[in-house]
Amino acid sequence: MPELPVPELLALDRAHVWHPYAPMPGRTDPLVVDSASGVRLRLAEPVHGRRELIDGMSSWWSALHGYNHPVLNEAARGQLERMSHVMFGGLTHEPAVRLAQRLVEITPEPLRHVFLSDSGSVSVEVAVKMCLQYWRSAGRPAKRRLLTWRGGYHGDTWQPMSVCDPDGGMHQLWSGVLPEQIFADAPPAGYDAYDESYADHLRDMVARHADETAAVIVEPVVQNAGGMRFHSPAYLRVLREACDEHGVLLVFDEIATGFGRTGTLFAAGHAGVAPDVMCLGKALTGGYLSMAATLCTPEVAEGISRGEFPVLAHGPTFMANPLAASIAHASIGLLLDQDWALEVKRIESALREGLAPAAELPGVTGVRVLGAIGVVQLDHPVDLAAATAAAVRAGVWLRPFRDLVYVMPPFVMGDEDLGTVCEAVLAAAVAG
Ligand SMILES: *Cc1c(COP(=O)(O)O)cnc(C)c1O
Repeated sequence: MPELPVPELLALDRAHVWHPYAPMPGRTDPLVVDSASGVRLRLAEPVHGRRELIDGMSSWWSALHGYNHPVLNEAARGQLERMSHVMFGGLTHEPAVRLAQRLVEITPEPLRHVFLSDSGSVSVEVAVKMCLQYWRSAGRPAKRRLLTWRGGYHGDTWQPMSVCDPDGGMHQLWSGVLPEQIFADAPPAGYDAYDESYADHLRDMVARHADETAAVIVEPVVQNAGGMRFHSPAYLRVLREACDEHGVLLVFDEIATGFGRTGTLFAAGHAGVAPDVMCLGKALTGGYLSMAATLCTPEVAEGISRGEFPVLAHGPTFMANPLAASIAHASIGLLLDQDWALEVKRIESALREGLAPAAELPGVTGVRVLGAIGVVQLDHPVDLAAATAAAVRAGVWLRPFRDLVYVMPPFVMGDEDLGTVCEAVLAAAVAG
């Protein structure tokens, strides 16, 4: 049992603790989680009659194997007793080396070098720094802008924010402060929707802006926090060709899509193309600790090393944290030692079947499923409090946003729980 009575804990939370995308003091009380195990969150006290909630969110794409997993716990414990952290300047250690080797093994072939950092946003900052510095080192400092498509999300620090969707990403608030990037139209919605005129638009944007563009950065196949939209993998091939033709680097932000979520180990696999730089995070440690990785090709690394400043000037204090690296290595092992693709397919079928009735609900304009991602599109901004309460009453934790109710269950979720999660999504869509 927690030592703080729940009302006191919530009062202190309200007084001192800032929550994501929230005002200070907060206007709604969060739920107090006491512990978590498997696919269940255990609350400190019942809410709407529920003490346990099935987790439909994988803690924001990250908890692939569920909570309190014996293998990940053991990896953490074993490493904790050796060392939880040492600096990475001038020192190295087995957890970092083994993780980097594994990441190179499982990502597309030309990615050979790994920069480990502490969060997804930082890994995107590092990716941007790599790309800009690559062109500076090549004597092309004018190539300093980024090109992306609308509807994306790349994190909350400055460079990532600058390539988030300009309408959803608060660009208006930050005009004059954010670097001004180049935006193509959002990709046509739908995994199977290929539109040659949109491909031409992408080709034209890359060609027209090549002299000032260091890199194209996109989330492959699924735009996640920018609106949970899917697009044709063929556009990734179009971007790859256009970038090669016009001398622009290509960055895939796989922070949300990596580690099987979309049905291929990395979303790049849907298109069979490799980026020059790839960002990984979220599920990297199976949801245990904050860690991210930026991978690049030898060409990018060598380009930087040939420059006047031949080093990548970046070095987070907790770079390559051994505890996180050990858990990440164990988490990747857990994933690859099972038939993960089959599990994702099983979840995909359950979501397709369980969410289909949502299409008939008032206020719903669409239902879409890809891999272990299920999305119900509303025709209005969701009433977060009402939708969350409806899901909790159904025994499920969901966190709808904008005009969406969505799920991305841990891969270990059983069929019965998946059924309950789908019912909760329907209830949330009706209530919200
Ligand atoms: C979550 C996310 C980020 C940011 O990662 P943080 O760890 O929250 O900083 C960047 N890109 C994508 C695609 C994401 O989903």
